[in-house]
Amino acid sequence: MPRDYTLEVKRRPAPAKRRIGPLIERLSAEHPDAKIALRFENEVELLVAVMLSAQTTDVNVNRVTERLFRKYRRPEDYLAVPVQELEQDVYAAGFYRQKARSLQGSMRMLVEEYKGRVPSTIAELVRLPGVARKTANVVAAELGEAQGIVVDTHVRRLAQRFALSREQDPVKIERDLVKLVPRERWRLFPHLLIWHGRRVCDARRPVCERCVVADLCPSSRV
Ligand code: SF4
Repeated sequence: MPRDYTLEVKRRPAPAKRRIGPLIERLSAEHPDAKIALRFENEVELLVAVMLSAQTTDVNVNRVTERLFRKYRRPEDYLAVPVQELEQDVYAAGFYRQKARSLQGSMRMLVEEYKGRVPSTIAELVRLPGVARKTANVVAAELGEAQGIVVDTHVRRLAQRFALSREQDPVKIERDLVKLVPRERWRLFPHLLIWHGRRVCDARRPVCERCVVADLCPSSRV
């Protein structure tokens, strides 16, 4: 069971609707470089990188894809090798058997149903083998069609500490966030929380004394 960060909320916060604008503004100024950390150069590489990122770090995925993308350039390339070869090529990303099978299944569907292109709606993306809602959300957002807000471990933690949601389940947290965050910010918002989470609002030791949104955060320790 993931930790419950709503327990760290110490003060009664101003309504989230009033705080969300300044929160986004200040975090944008603080983290102007906040964007997806996975490396890719086209939509197929984006899909592959996001699929590989399940249960591992973006840094690790970038290490794996640096070689992978030199060998596999089109969806057909993933289908031209035995699955065991692909397993070896994605081995370092972890869960390599499952990931290799999902990659081949997804690439087959891209070739057979989408003329080798990556679809951009969540409904179409989740039809691809091994693509769950979170993966679909990330891909759709990066393709410029954000249809939801990605909730990973950082987003969950910060949304709870900011008292933007009292929920535990990522799907329910996303439901709360999409009501608060203006639609044109759906793509940027998770990156702001992820980078703030990595740099300042650490899970164990948040550095509240140098946090630019401490006055807007009911979990602040200063
Ligand atoms: S680091 Fe900032 S966002 Fe995190 S708990 Fe402290 S004040 Fe809140």
